[in-house]
Amino acid sequence: MRHYLGIFLAVLLLGVPWFATVYPDQFIATLSAVTSFNDQFAAVILTHNAKTVADIQSKYNAVTNTVSAKKVRILIVPGHEPTYGGAEYGSIKERDLTVELGKDLKQLLDNNGHYQVYITRDTNAWEQNFDSYFKTNWDNIISWVKINRQEMTHLISVGSVKRVTPTIIHNKAPQNVAYRLFGITKWANENDIDITIHIHFNDYSGHGRNPGEYSGFTIYVPEGQYSNSTTTKVIAKDVFNRLEKYNPVSDLPGESTGIVEEPDLIAVGVNNTSDAASMLIEYGYIYEQQFTNSTLRSSALRDLAFQTYLGLQDFFGSPSVLNSSMSFDTLLIPHDWRQSITNKTASSSLDIYALQTAMVIDGVYPPGDKNLNDCPRTGSLGPCTLTALDAFQNKYGITDEKGVVGPKTRTILNGRFGVGGVM
Ligand SMILES: [Zn+2]
Repeated sequence: MRHYLGIFLAVLLLGVPWFATVYPDQFIATLSAVTSFNDQFAAVILTHNAKTVADIQSKYNAVTNTVSAKKVRILIVPGHEPTYGGAEYGSIKERDLTVELGKDLKQLLDNNGHYQVYITRDTNAWEQNFDSYFKTNWDNIISWVKINRQEMTHLISVGSVKRVTPTIIHNKAPQNVAYRLFGITKWANENDIDITIHIHFNDYSGHGRNPGEYSGFTIYVPEGQYSNSTTTKVIAKDVFNRLEKYNPVSDLPGESTGIVEEPDLIAVGVNNTSDAASMLIEYGYIYEQQFTNSTLRSSALRDLAFQTYLGLQDFFGSPSVLNSSMSFDTLLIPHDWRQSITNKTASSSLDIYALQTAMVIDGVYPPGDKNLNDCPRTGSLGPCTLTALDAFQNKYGITDEKGVVGPKTRTILNGRFGVGGVM
């Protein structure tokens, strides 16, 4: 859930009358600060050193061994705070899902050797680095936010930057939450972070949405005028392409382009605050079955992390598999189907989830003219899966296992997508 809104700038830029009404003193103070501003002042106070594509790629290619000090520096930010905030659905909390996915991603990147990876928190607490950074730098963070806001106000007032209205109305963050998020960006700038990835899951409550109404992922990137926008968009496109193969793109109006430029999200660098390429990935809606079902959840999260990892590897033009024996671009395959699947099989199972994934690779899923929003991989045996299974069986000449994954279908599946299988 996008709690972390650029409340400061959003209010100042898009809602000046509201700001003036509620905070007359601050409004006057800000105005006078802006009036006394000039280009030189802005230039002296703030330097922006946005990472370029060439900067980051050359870093990756310069890493020749695992002890190199110049690895690509990645910051993973599991959305929301320890024990606070985010979407909830039943007993499932977004703020816990984001940590699990974040840890999976960190592990994949750590194993690669080219990355120096940081993560801001676990489920219970901020990482020590960040906890002490917030405590030591709180006032600095607040003034840094203010200076950046003033600079942007100035640039807009002189016409150097064009005001852009956000596509999506985001939830607003409480002020201390917002300052911690700004603090993470400031820390990232000071610690030479190349790429920041914020992990979120979409919600329904608070947006007037019903559970099940929407599905799919979206990647938020900085608005085009921010200096970290170009680099972020190049990386986001690679991650998008990987995620899109197995996951639906959000069908929420305004998110359906899959990659959405955002002027106001603190996470991606509101007011041009972030030097790192910074994206916020909404990996899906929290009520989607692969997240609500405890049998599937960890596998689903780990594979989303893997797709993200593969997208980064694509950006670096590097071999994308984890090791040379790996021939699939998903961690759900290979899979061994040891039992037949019938309509008596448990309503949700990893066997069916892997079957759906195998059929995506085989080109028969989603079936016909359906897309992955119509036919998400749910781990259960519904009409989409049965139609695709029909096509799969036809393709391999199986005529007597209609509606079930029997011994013949399993032989084909295990042969092509099993542990001993060859693509
Ligand atoms: Zn969120």
